[in-house]
Amino acid sequence: MSQFHHLVKTQPAQVTALNLPPNTSCVLLKKRTISVEATPLPILQPDGVLVKVISTGICGSDLHNYLAGGVGGRPVTEPIVMGHESAGEVIAVGELVTTHKVGDRVAVEPGLPCRRCINCKNGRMNICMDMRYCGAPGSVGSLMKYFALPADMAPHIPENVSWDEAGSIQPLAIGVQIGKRADIRAHQTLAIFGCGPIGLITAAVAHAYSARKIIAFDVNPGRVEFAKKYISPLTGKPIIDHVFHIAPLPSSKRSDTPNGLSSHIGEAGTGGGITDGEVVDGHEEETESDMKWGWAKKRMAEILEQVGLVDEEGVDRVIEASGSEDAMLHGVAIAKQGATYLQVGLGHIQTNSFPTLAVTNKELDVKGITRYTASCFPSAIDMLSRGVVDLKQLITIKFPLTKSAEAFEAVASGKQIKVIVKNQEE
Ligand SMILES: [Zn+2]
Ligand SMILES: [Zn+2]
Repeated sequence: MSQFHHLVKTQPAQVTALNLPPNTSCVLLKKRTISVEATPLPILQPDGVLVKVISTGICGSDLHNYLAGGVGGRPVTEPIVMGHESAGEVIAVGELVTTHKVGDRVAVEPGLPCRRCINCKNGRMNICMDMRYCGAPGSVGSLMKYFALPADMAPHIPENVSWDEAGSIQPLAIGVQIGKRADIRAHQTLAIFGCGPIGLITAAVAHAYSARKIIAFDVNPGRVEFAKKYISPLTGKPIIDHVFHIAPLPSSKRSDTPNGLSSHIGEAGTGGGITDGEVVDGHEEETESDMKWGWAKKRMAEILEQVGLVDEEGVDRVIEASGSEDAMLHGVAIAKQGATYLQVGLGHIQTNSFPTLAVTNKELDVKGITRYTASCFPSAIDMLSRGVVDLKQLITIKFPLTKSAEAFEAVASGKQIKVIVKNQEE
């Protein structure tokens, strides 16, 4: 089995002397099939640390790999240890390491850039062309009892950050990167599509950055209710100002829903006023996509009215964190002139409809995001430590490592927000 970081092939004597129990690991065998079994203990490198992993978050990309039986579009050709959102305690330190000692609490930065490709040389290591990433082909994941990594990729965690929260530092680091890519600044307005962990974490980061108004959407009523109750540690009030349940876009001009928009908006609002035929009169040749776009504009115009942003004609920043094509249409529709639209959610390989004319007319900055950059982990740890972001509320269920399959099924159910695996628990 491939190692995460492997220059030296022999385990140093100090690790052998620890007499560690078998390295129980969560191994993906094929589509929706996990085996919890012992895998070789990773070899401590001279510049590395060996970590007793305490907690690991499971995220949408793990779920994608689990359901698809592959990683990054590639099927699993050999069993692969999963997981990339971990934290734990240092139990051995390589001979060259001066920054860490046994007993240190650390997070795991899961991406090891090559340092040699053109993107790395340009300082954009998150889009390294030869990245080793925990749980991706060529690298073991961290959903195991003991994990070894370079010491500089194991940032220290202060005592006041709980282990459970520590298992969610990586998605918070992604939230920080979302803030950078979308250039989120104080007193802006945001629309977030998708109230899963990344959507909620993005809201928490924007709130910590002093966003003026945050609006969020989801198609899952349970997630809408959850998002409404995500409380700010700074104000004691909900982080998201308005959370809306939104139905899929209709693909015909006949009707949006039987009773118009208000029926599927989760907030009390007058809604209404939208009648059949209003949208497409005189445009018989309109395509299905055009009709969806028409509905998206109608819906978002009504939302802007409900949230008091009619005068501004949209929001400053749109974060699409669901991967749904409908959300993309809604997102462009609710963006104000000159806004930034960030695509975070993983959709299909391509979309059938994206309103490019509106992108041009509004002069939107449309961007993508991959992983996180150098300052994101320290910023995430700092925000948790200072208490300006709270992840504890997002952790809805925990499983011992031996129940990893159940953990993945819990993520798949869509009923949980953040699922944490306790790596040392049987
Ligand atoms: Zn993740
Ligand atoms: Zn590289």
